[in-house]
Amino acid sequence: MSERFYCERCSHRQDLAGDCPHCEDEPLLDIEDPDVRLMLREMDAADIRRRNYSIGAVAAVVGILPVAALSIVIGEGKTLVLAWAGTSIALGWAGTRLFGIKARHPV
Ligand SMILES: [Zn+2]
Repeated sequence: MSERFYCERCSHRQDLAGDCPHCEDEPLLDIEDPDVRLMLREMDAADIRRRNYSIGAVAAVVGILPVAALSIVIGEGKTLVLAWAGTSIALGWAGTRLFGIKARHPV
């Protein structure tokens, strides 16, 4: 028998429906229900998207630092904007690899 009932809050799984024995007022979800699976996938996707936006924002702010230093050498211009974009994209990519999150739910 599979452990088809799942607590979204603490990830506890068990065979029988009911409330989570570890969390107060947390009903267990039936992960064999397609609607529940879809909801959990959407929750994971939203968490991952939110984390990646945060990493991207930090990368854009941190990415301005080397470009500011470069502006002392080459002055102003389109090159600096491209350098900032490139640096931010590279930092964002590296940041999501280092600090990104994976799907939390088993669906
Ligand atoms: Zn729980």
